[in-house]
Amino acid sequence: MKLELNDDQKAMLDTVRQLAQTKFRSRVAKWQDGTFPYANLRELGEIGVLGMAVPEEHGGLGMPVLDCVLVLEEVAKVCYVTAMAAMSAMGAQNRIIANYAPEDLKQRYLPGVITGETILAICMTEPHAGTDVANYTTNTVVHKDHVVLNGTKTLISRADEAHCFIVFTRVDGRSGREGIGCVLVDPSTPGFEVTARYHTMGGENLAEIQFRDMKLPSENLIIRENGFKRLLNAFNTQRCMNPSVSLGLAEGAFEEAVKYVRSREIFGRPTGTMQGIRWKIADMAREIEVARSILYRAASTANPFPDPYLAAIAKIQTNEMAIRVTSEALQVHGGYGFTDEYPVSHFYRGARYGTLGGGATETLKDLVGRRVYDAFPDDGFLSFGLM
Ligand SMILES: Cc1cc2nc3c(=O)[nH]c(=O)nc-3n(C[C@H](O)[C@H](O)[C@H](O)COP(=O)(O)OP(=O)(O)OC[C@H]3O[C@@H](n4cnc5c(N)ncnc54)[C@H](O)[C@@H]3O)c2cc1C
Repeated sequence: MKLELNDDQKAMLDTVRQLAQTKFRSRVAKWQDGTFPYANLRELGEIGVLGMAVPEEHGGLGMPVLDCVLVLEEVAKVCYVTAMAAMSAMGAQNRIIANYAPEDLKQRYLPGVITGETILAICMTEPHAGTDVANYTTNTVVHKDHVVLNGTKTLISRADEAHCFIVFTRVDGRSGREGIGCVLVDPSTPGFEVTARYHTMGGENLAEIQFRDMKLPSENLIIRENGFKRLLNAFNTQRCMNPSVSLGLAEGAFEEAVKYVRSREIFGRPTGTMQGIRWKIADMAREIEVARSILYRAASTANPFPDPYLAAIAKIQTNEMAIRVTSEALQVHGGYGFTDEYPVSHFYRGARYGTLGGGATETLKDLVGRRVYDAFPDDGFLSFGLM
């Protein structure tokens, strides 16, 4: 397989790189206390990045998942918080609306996503059920001419900023995964409340939200039945977007590590000339190359959503790689790596997010293990493409 970027992709990446390496780099520290990076998001909107995943008929660029991965990687090389904010315009949220919402809701929300004026949030996790989806208790009761939503969601990104919340909910109390649907929530509707806020080690804020007797138009219930399977299809996009942030973080930390070991002299020579340090650099480079290959391959399968098996493997591999690489990058900085004087501590903290959000590693390993077990042929070995 050969991955070659065309001229348009190269031009887009050059523009994003310029913006990230100059303006975003100078502002990284600003977003560490939970301040939302509106300024960066607006600038990404101006160069077209936020519309990359919005379908062309709604004014976007309708670009493939791989292009979004490449762009998020560039942003995350500099600023984790901005990459996470931009992901909301390119990830599952946007694709759920584009694929499942009625036309007037698409027209209400998608054009604003392109400029950064409309921010989307996704609400899956509940206080007592994150990975345990079958135990979600948030429920939507269907009435003749409206629906009523009740429930609590937690650890939600962009809860204070979003204009539309994509909420996974039971429909009429139906049990199990099959009973889950999806409702779009405008936070100005009576009954919406942010009930707790958590500042994270990555810099951004997460929040708990309560929906109390929220009366919503019937059309906002965009998926009524067997929603979880359809939502998970779209969610495979997130399983490529999330690791693109991890990949960028790892590359950003790696660049800082190489710069540092070339300039830091001890025992009369740069630390990068010592074999033990060079091996660390080699291991970091090797890990980044491996993760990048599987992630790009998984993203390339999208039609419109990526293959679940490859997306899960790419996510596990890249998220875990980023934790190891950012940790080693910090290690070669010595004690200075632990201070906020060098960007490497920012990358290290951000990287910890990957294995938790967007499908935790353990759950994805379950998915991969099940697929291998079920698909394994009685009379031979698995080979490329068989899965
Ligand atoms: C930065 C960040 C942003 C987030 N943003 C959002 C958001 O916008 N919207 C949203 O809905 N959620 C969001 N989340 C929440 C995230 O999706 C959940 O934390 C995640 O799904 C895990 O759920 P949990 O925290 O309830 O862990 P639990 O489900 O309680 O799991 C605890 C541990 O057990 C492991 N585990 C689960 N199943 C198994 C198994 N079968 N075998 C072995 N181990 C297992 C899990 O992987 C985890 O390590 C965010 C999280 C983070 C860190």
